[in-house]
Amino acid sequence: MSTIQQLKTYQMLIDGQWVAAASGLTYQVVDPATEQPIAIVPKGAVADAERAVRAARKAFDSGPWPRKLAVERSELLHKAAGLIRERAEDLALLETRQMGKLLAESLVDVNDAAHTFDYYAGLAVEQHGQTLEVPGESMSMVVREPIGVTAGITPWNFPLLMAAWKVAPSLAAGNVMILKPASVSPLTSLELGHILEEAGLPEGVFQVLTGPGGEVGDYLATSGDIDMVAFTGSVEVGKAIMRAGAGNVKKVGLELGGKSPNIVFEDADFEAAIDGALVGIFAGSGEVCSAGSRLLVQRSIYDRFVGELVSRAMAIRVGAPAEESSEMGPVVSQQQLDTVERYVKIGLQEGAKLATGGHRLEGRGYYYEPTIFVDVDNRMRVAQEEIFGPVLVVIPFETEAEAIAIANDTIYGLAGAVWTRDVTRAMRVIKALRAGITWVNTYHPTYSEAPWGGYKQSGVGRELGTFGLDEYQEVKQINIDLTGRALGVYQHGTEDGKQGKVVSLNDRRPFNDEFKADEWVGYCENCR
Ligand code: NAD
Repeated sequence: MSTIQQLKTYQMLIDGQWVAAASGLTYQVVDPATEQPIAIVPKGAVADAERAVRAARKAFDSGPWPRKLAVERSELLHKAAGLIRERAEDLALLETRQMGKLLAESLVDVNDAAHTFDYYAGLAVEQHGQTLEVPGESMSMVVREPIGVTAGITPWNFPLLMAAWKVAPSLAAGNVMILKPASVSPLTSLELGHILEEAGLPEGVFQVLTGPGGEVGDYLATSGDIDMVAFTGSVEVGKAIMRAGAGNVKKVGLELGGKSPNIVFEDADFEAAIDGALVGIFAGSGEVCSAGSRLLVQRSIYDRFVGELVSRAMAIRVGAPAEESSEMGPVVSQQQLDTVERYVKIGLQEGAKLATGGHRLEGRGYYYEPTIFVDVDNRMRVAQEEIFGPVLVVIPFETEAEAIAIANDTIYGLAGAVWTRDVTRAMRVIKALRAGITWVNTYHPTYSEAPWGGYKQSGVGRELGTFGLDEYQEVKQINIDLTGRALGVYQHGTEDGKQGKVVSLNDRRPFNDEFKADEWVGYCENCR
């Protein structure tokens, strides 16, 4: 049997049906560890996206989902969380096969995805509006409502988790969602379609479109029938989505790239900081938006720290991601490998000192050595641009003020960390960092409960936490008159009507039996 015949053929989920692309076209998903195809997927195009948008519109405008009780939506999301957990091992293996991260890392991601569904299932029933203290005999309240048809466009580095971060809060809020996963790693998003279907989600509420971002993603970003796009990916595509979304002024949520500073002071716990520096950059082969890709080390410990860091990096076992003994897998694709190689060349040309790594591994698979540039100047391109691979730049600093200045000297503002035993210094530095996700004496742990997102060009809006649910909701103010009388501004010809000048509608005073004209300083100046 040929390899092609053994490949599983996937379909997309449109309007409650599993379908091929209208064009009949397909493409292959490739395992980056072996460079072999592992699945065939529909190559969706505008015609498919149009169909999905029509179905989504119908599901939102007249379908049952937005009208369900919060407790019913909650129940379904809990069910989905349970199904994800039941299939955690299969989903993790599929994630690893399609994008190359270590199986242990994929398992963490899958469990985090399940937790995200549980978390928003809980929040769905906890969301409340407000009643407001307003002047006069009126009542004012605020209610939350779904935004409508939402689109999620996700990257390849955490395929299922990034989908969960969007799908769970969007559905919890009563929206419908079309998900467009990254072309190289769509398989676990398609599995999520099966899971939500099995959990009982009505037709058209969740749809998955596979195909090129420049076509399918762009259609979703541009469509006047889509009310919100939640995007995670590169700054460049994020800007394109913002522009495309301007057509119908749709809400745009952007989770973009980073070049995050990991700052080590001389009084840090040496062992913990070394370990944190390595985890910060080499976890997930450095293909992590919040990676600590700029390591800032205080000059007084610089030589000793760098020496130890480099020898530990050289000992990292790079290998097949599903093998337990491997400590780092391949990068996701030939294209990403080319990007890493290009940046290593740029670094060398700029005069950065290559302390270890700098080569791809021999043989099959997109494996690259853990790579460290030392004595880097923050103005170099390797310090300013996101490489998105296992490449660390190390920058020396003398003082706290200098560390803060270097840390913030970037277009990005996603994450950052500080390593020190001095709690006042830790808090001073964290407060000064222009970044949305920060750590003290650790790197990378994050929680569904905490808002995730960036300052500056790292994004707009927040995912996760209660903030993440707010993003998927409109808020409506409702003002109710309690007097039962006309506003009285244009009552010409009525018995007590006098023309007057409106001062302030907010200042309305009661027109009831106890009304005393001479005490009233009303909105209608000449009505006394
Ligand atoms: P990418 O921007 O190339 O693609 C992201 C998604 O956008 C994919 O689904 C792609 O198909 C789609 N797309 C491409 N062109 C499009 C267009 N013109 N219109 C609409 N959609 C389009 O990013 P990537 O290479 O998949 O992922 C890596 C990037 O994602 C890195 O920059 C990384 O920092 C970022 N990222 C950010 C976060 C975060 O939370 N801030 C998390 C993970 C990844």
